[in-house]
Amino acid sequence: MKQICLAGLIITGILLIHACAPNPYAKTNRSYKKQVKAYAKLLRQYPVTDSVGLQAPASWVGTTNFSMRRPNYVIIHHTAQNSCEQTLKTFTIPRAQVSSHYVICKDGTVHHMLNDLLRGHHAGISKWGNATDINSSSIGIEIDNNGFETFTDQQINSLMIVLDRLKKAYNIPAANFIGHADIAPGRKVDPNRNFPWQKLAAQGFGYWYDTTTVQVDSSFNAMQALRIIGYDIKKDTSAIQSFKLHFVQNDSTKVITETDKKILADLVRKYQ
Ligand SMILES: [Zn+2]
Repeated sequence: MKQICLAGLIITGILLIHACAPNPYAKTNRSYKKQVKAYAKLLRQYPVTDSVGLQAPASWVGTTNFSMRRPNYVIIHHTAQNSCEQTLKTFTIPRAQVSSHYVICKDGTVHHMLNDLLRGHHAGISKWGNATDINSSSIGIEIDNNGFETFTDQQINSLMIVLDRLKKAYNIPAANFIGHADIAPGRKVDPNRNFPWQKLAAQGFGYWYDTTTVQVDSSFNAMQALRIIGYDIKKDTSAIQSFKLHFVQNDSTKVITETDKKILADLVRKYQ
């Protein structure tokens, strides 16, 4: 490869110098391949050995009917970093211990950093409905954004393409396209309130309410509605904050208003 590069340089001159520069991620790419190889080796073991540690009977019988486990949720994040390059670096430093399957840069470039079938480290301690260990069942998508910026049109366009492919490839339900703040109330606030959840829902990625004119009586329990949608309501104000970041983005309070109740009443019908 090096020889081809040098030949190219001689023939076409300076323009190829950049293309032939050493890959700064050559070492971490080797680490990726090494880890995948170790997991492949684990899968090849038989009689089947895993962490359950059961004593195997004298003769092993393997089933003939199986496939790879598939992700069933998509969790959207903002990076809270200053550049895509910074995030790529963070996700290749072992001591950072964090990763995501996709990183989407401001110009719309999509970095697919981890096979969809492997477990990324993006969700942390989280809960949605009764689902925990969301890392094991989800795809993580990080969007380059310092935490306060708006998202670029290029980012949203690329995101829509990725979401469409994921939804079709793994048959992910519309309800399961959610944000990090949704699954970790009080701990996470991403993606920020500029994120176009309504636009996503219009394409079948997540839900949005249709009306704010639903009749809500005095017995309506907003916290119960949040719980039905999926929020962890252990701490009321945290759950409300996450709900507002997603569905009532112009309101930074942690108080349920009459309009919020109407929104919730409409949303609950979809999530139920
Ligand atoms: Zn996040």
